[in-house]
Amino acid sequence: MYYGFDVGGTKIEFGAFNEQLERVASERVATPGDDYEALIDTLVALIKKADQTFGCEGQIGIGIPGMEDAEDGTVLTSNIPAAKGRHLRRDLENRLGRSVSIDNDANCFALSEAWDEALRDEPSVLGLILGTGFGGGLVFNGKVFSGKNHVAGELGHTRLPIDAWFHLGEKAPLFTCGCDNKGCIDNYLSGRGFEQLYAHYYGEKIPAIEIIEHFRQDEAKAVEHVERFVELLAICLGGLLTGLDPHVVVLGGGLSNFDYLYEALPKRLPKHLLSVARVPKIIKAKHGDAGGVRGAAFLNIKTA
Ligand SMILES: [Zn+2]
Repeated sequence: MYYGFDVGGTKIEFGAFNEQLERVASERVATPGDDYEALIDTLVALIKKADQTFGCEGQIGIGIPGMEDAEDGTVLTSNIPAAKGRHLRRDLENRLGRSVSIDNDANCFALSEAWDEALRDEPSVLGLILGTGFGGGLVFNGKVFSGKNHVAGELGHTRLPIDAWFHLGEKAPLFTCGCDNKGCIDNYLSGRGFEQLYAHYYGEKIPAIEIIEHFRQDEAKAVEHVERFVELLAICLGGLLTGLDPHVVVLGGGLSNFDYLYEALPKRLPKHLLSVARVPKIIKAKHGDAGGVRGAAFLNIKTA
């Protein structure tokens, strides 16, 4: 059995998966505010209960909005006060007497999609989340690649390439990122970025979903905005694809529901790639909100 936890700021999602990778149990509980012992107790209780239900000791994977410090194993996150700076993995392993895997939730999202039946045989999958932020995860041969510092996939904090800057024109806005750098693509290509860019060029703050509705109605500003955004996405994605050359790109997060992206990106991407490169499959995520739990559980799948 594979147990997965998606630990967020307000809730903890749990799922148990059998050897066929089918979900056989689900649970959702509140994340204890800033009480670390309560967090450990909550996780241990869910694990013990599942062990009893299934008559085995399941393998445990945990997805968090953050990462483990590569040197000392403490949790780096600003979204789960209870876990921040703690040795979550070590303490759980001591309580349970078995190993625990922890990884970033965007990496778990990518892993969940990579283990979808349709993608299981793909050698590499790049998952991109166009949600509140712009995040990513890389999966090679069914395993997350998280890198030396566990920051692989933090693509939102790479900066705009120079051609993106020219594309945005004279009025190009230089947004400051939460990481303190300027020009991180997170602030341009996320759902938030989509709205921020619209507000910058047209002086109106409206939700992405409304902008998209105006685009569908052929409203001039929305059409101009969407075309500018899709080209910006193609430019940035071009750089990422040249660096990583994934076999498939899976899009998740709110903006991934904007179907026009799947039509426009394959047309716009070739001029931003090397001439020998073909545009990979770009598809919409299948597992939506369940991706975090699935991916966390699948951290422990043994690959050949
Ligand atoms: Zn940043």
